[in-house]
Amino acid sequence: MKTFLLEKMTWPEIKEAMENGFDTVIIFAASIEQHGPGLPECTDTALGYFEAEDLARRLGNALAAPVIRPGLSAHHMGFPGSITLRPETFKAILEDYIAAYAHHGFRKIVLCSSHGGNFKAIEKVAEEQSEKYPDVKIVTGICLDELDAALMEMDRVEGLPAGTCGGHACDWETSIMMLIDEDYVRRDKLQKGYVGQLNGELLDRFFNQGVGSVSPIGVMGDPTGADPERGRRYFEYLQELQAECIRRKLGED
Ligand SMILES: [Zn+2]
Repeated sequence: MKTFLLEKMTWPEIKEAMENGFDTVIIFAASIEQHGPGLPECTDTALGYFEAEDLARRLGNALAAPVIRPGLSAHHMGFPGSITLRPETFKAILEDYIAAYAHHGFRKIVLCSSHGGNFKAIEKVAEEQSEKYPDVKIVTGICLDELDAALMEMDRVEGLPAGTCGGHACDWETSIMMLIDEDYVRRDKLQKGYVGQLNGELLDRFFNQGVGSVSPIGVMGDPTGADPERGRRYFEYLQELQAECIRRKLGED
């Protein structure tokens, strides 16, 4: 197949894929929000498309839905350009996506997020909608704690100071954006943000008072040494983690 993105396929192509065993849809929820001085607001959306299509390819029986953007980004509203959906709007969009794909006959639906603020909401929707559609298996990909643990591991494996992959506009996101398209990245504008643990009181402040209360430039981590080849390694590691998690939850491992 030329593409695994549903929005780029024709309906006969989708029909044929489904007849050939493509019974799974991957829905990524992203964001349109500030990513510091070096990355565009579409960062999580670009990552969402890149991850979703690759994941579909890896799973082998899945297609990728149009990435949902924007998402839940209240903590980024202190910076120009960010959009946040009302939680009920976000939930309604997810429910309508699920309703559409269940209607078309997909039997497995996977909800993933390429943005930290969406995780809790998609997990709740997956749980509720599983009751509404008992014939459809609705699961989520890796959770935020698993992502955080993976970022710490990536710092360790690459020999970088802890917190370099801080999770937002950091070495991880910036390196993968370089891998997708160098033009996304304002190399001369990259700046080090908050580098350290984000837990306890600081984590509360991050979500309740906004990202700017922890990092005035809106960066969690240090993107100044970002590199597309390292981006490829980060991507491969996280995609395999994600695929493994989904296969396990779908009972396909
Ligand atoms: Zn991001």
